[in-house]
Amino acid sequence: MKLIEIENLTVQLGGHTALRDVNLTINAGEIVTIVGPNGSGKSTLLRTIIGALSQSKGRVHLRQGLRIGYVPQRLHIDPTLPLTVRRFLCLPRKVTNSEIEDALAKANVPELANRQMTRLSGGQFQRVLLARALLERPELLILDEATQGLDQAGSADFYREIAQTRDQGGCAVLMVSHDLHVVMSASDRVICLNGHVCYEGKPEHVASAPEYRALFGEGTKGALALYRHHHHAHHNEQTDKPEAAE
Ligand code: ADP
Ligand code: MG
Repeated sequence: MKLIEIENLTVQLGGHTALRDVNLTINAGEIVTIVGPNGSGKSTLLRTIIGALSQSKGRVHLRQGLRIGYVPQRLHIDPTLPLTVRRFLCLPRKVTNSEIEDALAKANVPELANRQMTRLSGGQFQRVLLARALLERPELLILDEATQGLDQAGSADFYREIAQTRDQGGCAVLMVSHDLHVVMSASDRVICLNGHVCYEGKPEHVASAPEYRALFGEGTKGALALYRHHHHAHHNEQTDKPEAAE
């Protein structure tokens, strides 16, 4: 069953075409990973799906009543604001203690309810964001670079938990990641995005696809190298790609 069907989606942001002619289908229960250089429209695509941005052309069809849990790429919390994990999870809508405990347990951080948000480690913070998304009892979980800032072992754990969440709850997962080698085993399908869909296939085939190599260079290490390059240099020297968003 199709949860999402996107046809010929074009999104313009401030006169810049962030996405052009994107076609994408997400089926119930599958894990789909989007990879692509910085500025390639990954966050734009996810934000269009959740309705935070609107399309210029094309059609985004969500199954009626589809429950989506969304983990954003960035969430800034004022460091001077006292905010426990429990209270954070009650924003924007009040949830019961047992719902909170259940969500934290599913996100593998059952002990954090009374801790301060600003004192969490990177991995704990991401898991609390995951718990918040799980409170929606999502049929589709959308994660935007959820393992940013985690080390390789940390992100491998995180993706294993995402796969477990899917296996237990039956939700589909749509996520953006730079760690192709880490998401390999967890994904059913990988989509290479660079303003448009360059390649779509099974994770074990993607790394050897010419379209993927053109984007990331040889092998899967290319993805990581490019990632580091962007995050340290904050710009993209390859002229055929859109500028990085910072
Ligand atoms: P990614 O998540 O793949 O790094 P984004 O979807 O964040 O890329 O951004 C895609 C492109 O759209 C980038 O070139 C970015 O600079 C541009 N962009 C993002 N938001 C806006 C905006 N509000 N106005 C104009 N351009 C934007
Ligand atoms: Mg992004």
